[in-house]
Amino acid sequence: MWRKTSPVTDSGPNKRLRDRLVALTRDLVLMPSYAGNTVAIRQCYEFVRNHLEEFPGVEIQDHVSADVPSLVALPSGITKPDVLMIAHLDVVHHADTEVYRSSIEEGRIVGPGAGDMKGALAILMVLFRRFHRAYPGISVGLAVTTDEESGGQHGVRYLVEDVGLRCGCAIIPDGGSLHEITVEEKGILHLKLTATGTPSHAARPWLGQNPIPQLTAALERLELSFRGLVVDEPDHWYPTCTVTAIGTENDAFNRLAAEAHATLDLRFPPPHTTESMMARVRDVVGEQIHVAAAITAEPTHLLPDPRFVEITNQLIDQPTELVRESGGSDARFLTPHGIPVLMSRPEVGNLHAPNEWIEIDSLVTYYRICESYLAKRLNVAPPAEP
Ligand SMILES: [Zn+2]
Repeated sequence: MWRKTSPVTDSGPNKRLRDRLVALTRDLVLMPSYAGNTVAIRQCYEFVRNHLEEFPGVEIQDHVSADVPSLVALPSGITKPDVLMIAHLDVVHHADTEVYRSSIEEGRIVGPGAGDMKGALAILMVLFRRFHRAYPGISVGLAVTTDEESGGQHGVRYLVEDVGLRCGCAIIPDGGSLHEITVEEKGILHLKLTATGTPSHAARPWLGQNPIPQLTAALERLELSFRGLVVDEPDHWYPTCTVTAIGTENDAFNRLAAEAHATLDLRFPPPHTTESMMARVRDVVGEQIHVAAAITAEPTHLLPDPRFVEITNQLIDQPTELVRESGGSDARFLTPHGIPVLMSRPEVGNLHAPNEWIEIDSLVTYYRICESYLAKRLNVAPPAEP
């Protein structure tokens, strides 16, 4: 078994594993796989696919929803693996495409997507290969999607809801940190508010009705209403309502707008629900303003396996913490089906910035945590090191 080491020793199997994970992560970072860059998404997808397909007893399914590809690798004959590892290969867009490369600085791989989540994807790819090479047909699957950064509707949601993909538990290294395991995530509502007015010449505004003051007054009432829900908790475990855009179709100086709209991002913990939050917003803004939802997700409990927590405790120097996250993840598509989700990850930082990073030692440590967990759960020895 692996002894607690910090940093992970730099010799023998760990050295080879580290070199492998660093090389794979850097290859993945080179591909600018942001939404809309279908060529790079496809290139990255094929790269991942080529690393998974050589094993007898592994079947690869290629799914597409609204032109968004997703890959599912399963042991043949098994539709519901005991463990499904899930990653996304898409990254956020940067206007300067020159930034899609990586460097090694102070023990970190620095580059777009290194932390979210190409380093973690590299880990899952190596885990998948090593377990399937050692134990052909083992009940471990890997799903790789390409639209997480734009909401996951055609990725994990599609696989779970439309394809019917299920598993005993899911590993999604897209939240938390090495010593922080996510147990709860806030719910999400993305809303569009629209106020409708009566256009008129702005020199005679009394002939029309201006939708802009109507909208801004409603937004102010919302601000006040949600301020009342703030509680003094270090992890901000209360509902928030944030105006993220505001505008009108009007492009004239001298005419009242026909409409004005705003978009809102709401995040909320239990006992609040999408229904109760929606009701609050409708109540506060009033009947004159139209409210439409683009994304709705209930708060989620991830129900992590205590064995995973125990193994994490054994392999890292810090005490493990179970944390609540304000942000949402693909876990929200699995938990409604009673599927437990294990969510922690290597040490990462500057997420979504060009100088995003992942710490190399923690790549190896996180690999060892997952390896121990898979071995324990599936009742096999950790695969022999190549
Ligand atoms: Zn992510």
